[in-house]
Amino acid sequence: MNPIQLHNQVWNALQARRARLPHALLMAGPRGLGKLDLARAFVASLLCEQPQADGQACGQCLACGWQAQGNHPDFRLLQPEALSDSDSESEDSKKKPSKEIKIDQVRALDEFLTVGTHRAGMRIVLIHPAEAMNHNTANSILKSLEEPSADTLFLLISNEPARLLPTIRSRCQFVPLNVPSRQQSIAMLQAAGVADPEPWLALAGGAPMQALELAQSEQKNWPLELARWFLAGDKLDALTAAAAVDKLLKDSKGQIGLRQLIEWSLKWAFDLLLARKRLPVRYFVQHRATITTVAAAVPEIRLLHFYRRLLVCRREVEQPLNSRLFLDEFFLNYRALFAN
Ligand SMILES: [Zn+2]
Repeated sequence: MNPIQLHNQVWNALQARRARLPHALLMAGPRGLGKLDLARAFVASLLCEQPQADGQACGQCLACGWQAQGNHPDFRLLQPEALSDSDSESEDSKKKPSKEIKIDQVRALDEFLTVGTHRAGMRIVLIHPAEAMNHNTANSILKSLEEPSADTLFLLISNEPARLLPTIRSRCQFVPLNVPSRQQSIAMLQAAGVADPEPWLALAGGAPMQALELAQSEQKNWPLELARWFLAGDKLDALTAAAAVDKLLKDSKGQIGLRQLIEWSLKWAFDLLLARKRLPVRYFVQHRATITTVAAAVPEIRLLHFYRRLLVCRREVEQPLNSRLFLDEFFLNYRALFAN
């Protein structure tokens, strides 16, 4: 899927500004829109020494060669260790890779930001996702944003810009990415070989890259299995459901975790709220015929409480916990929504 085609207007607007870019850009929008791919294409385009007419990198020059090999001297990518491809087998092989961008990664930029650029162009720091910076890291980056070195661009990517320090946000120019039209996304998913794109796009809330990822995932049916448990309503066998989902999480070997469970449950609860109001469901469109009956059995106020608890859960779920205990309680709480 071509991110430039998908976000053509944003791309053209960025290209129109390439001669007078600010020191920091914040590319923000929901997960699964291809923000990282777009940002990488923009970085390549800025570092390229003979860009094409539409601004895209030529793919031929020395800079493009370096960029393709991931070792352009004027470019740095800051992302959590957990997201980096290079396996860190060395001394830390037993430790779980960090999900945060650490302050050491920012400190390592010091020299990069003070020496001259290698190709007399600009230097670029890509931060992905910006909300993975903890408080200390964010404060440290803030210094660089406040006293920018010449010819330096900080390109921040965020799925949840509201979680960034306000002082970081205010130093960046905002580049919002919107969900592409349904028609456009369906066409792109079909071109990418997804035979039946509609339900996947709905589950992904309209985000095409996420839909593609779902459709191609080995665990693609699990949100629908989860929905089947939810559809049981007051007849849900909570402990059996918890055991089944726990096994699913463990068998997936880290591919799916409690966070995804919470994400899907939020979408399910949102659909229940819509169905209660006799509005068309947004995510679980395959169940649109049956969800109304289930929704009618839950008082709206309980549903709202459940939804809010899930939001809190989503913030806390990163901490290690006993997944089976969590799941038992989770499904018992869900069934309690239907109690008389
Ligand atoms: Zn080039």
